[in-house]
Amino acid sequence: MRQSKYFLKTSKTVSADDVSINARLLEQGGFVQKVMAGVYDFMPLGLRVLQKIENIVREEMDKIGSEMFMPVLHPKENWEKTGRWQGLDVLFKLKSRHGSEYALGPTHEEIITPAAQSVIGSYKDLPLAVYQIQTKFRDEPRAKSGLLRGREFRMKDLYSFHATAEDLEEYYNKQAIPAYEKVYQRLGLKALLTEASGGTFSKYSHEYQVEIESGEDIIYVCGKCGTAKNKEIFEEGALCTNCGKTEWRETKACEVGNIFKLQDKYSSAFNLQYTDQDGGKKPVLMGCYGIGTSRLMGVLVERFHDDKGIIWPDASAPFKAHLLALKGAEKQAGEIYESLLKSGIEVLYDDREASAGVKFADADLIGIPYRVVVSPKTLADKAVEVKKRSAEKAEFVQIENLADFIK
Ligand code: ATP
Ligand code: MG
Repeated sequence: MRQSKYFLKTSKTVSADDVSINARLLEQGGFVQKVMAGVYDFMPLGLRVLQKIENIVREEMDKIGSEMFMPVLHPKENWEKTGRWQGLDVLFKLKSRHGSEYALGPTHEEIITPAAQSVIGSYKDLPLAVYQIQTKFRDEPRAKSGLLRGREFRMKDLYSFHATAEDLEEYYNKQAIPAYEKVYQRLGLKALLTEASGGTFSKYSHEYQVEIESGEDIIYVCGKCGTAKNKEIFEEGALCTNCGKTEWRETKACEVGNIFKLQDKYSSAFNLQYTDQDGGKKPVLMGCYGIGTSRLMGVLVERFHDDKGIIWPDASAPFKAHLLALKGAEKQAGEIYESLLKSGIEVLYDDREASAGVKFADADLIGIPYRVVVSPKTLADKAVEVKKRSAEKAEFVQIENLADFIK
């Protein structure tokens, strides 16, 4: 992508009321633009990052379920059936000019459970799992941490359906948890499996928590085995359920995922049943599994940055290489750009008429993994100067070896 033609402008200023690191760097880098508190434009550069994250989530979820897409606009009746029209304080409610009322989806149990009725008849249909990646709406009281807490945000939500509690347990432990670990691992994040309050029907739910300074949750991490517990359920002096020790470390963290065994909570509300082997009707048991994909983008920035800007890990970087043409090297830089594209490398090519200082500062701010500088000086050696954003020093690489070097 030629930067001169890209819908992108970095800036030195940010909205005054948001001081979080991710909001500041993502806004300055031209990834997002604030529309109002908790609501952002994802500019082309930011959309690329979000899509990288969501594609990793999609690839791992495709191994344990199938993708579908549900509406954002929900009928009031569905939310009344579960008691959440009144019971869920963050629910956005709309009234149409014809007098009907609707909710904007904050989560989709109220939609997926009735939808599953047409798919699930007998025990032979089970187990099943389905997911979507979608925009969610929540009327959050505080939306001041950039992408960490939006009023409009992105989430992957997966729902599983089972005949027995054992089957739900097995799916939860042997499919959902490993798939979740793979997602965070591929993104380069250490996410701690954390015991949290379980909601209505099981003792615990599990959250995935990433340690960051700006995290809103407080968790206790076992110093021996790394098992974690959310503060809301933590008892002073409690034994670690995994290793039996009591060496807890308190830390701030951000919840990037949450998995629940819902049992029959929603299937009973919507009368979602299956016919068992003996011919009797039983409620389908369900699990639900969320990942905050736009929040993850914010967490990555909170975790990977320095005082000059973002340092994207490869998997979520918007481009692999940032090619900078300095004065007098424009023609050759253009040729290098074309050849990198031919080698299948995603390149942002800074072909703007701007000073070297401006280009270097923008490259640091945007944080693409490889910065490649072409100048008359490097060309004298048939080379370019390559610097990893995460490294201190640059090195010279012969132009003919550049694509292999980056790959
Ligand atoms: P929190 O406790 O942070 O408010 P939650 O427990 O209400 O989150 P869930 O209903 O478990 O959230 O949603 C699943 C995932 O969606 C969360 O783990 C989180 O990563 C993400 N998420 C939830 N609320 C927001 C939000 N307002 N902005 C961005 N991401 C969110
Ligand atoms: Mg949660």
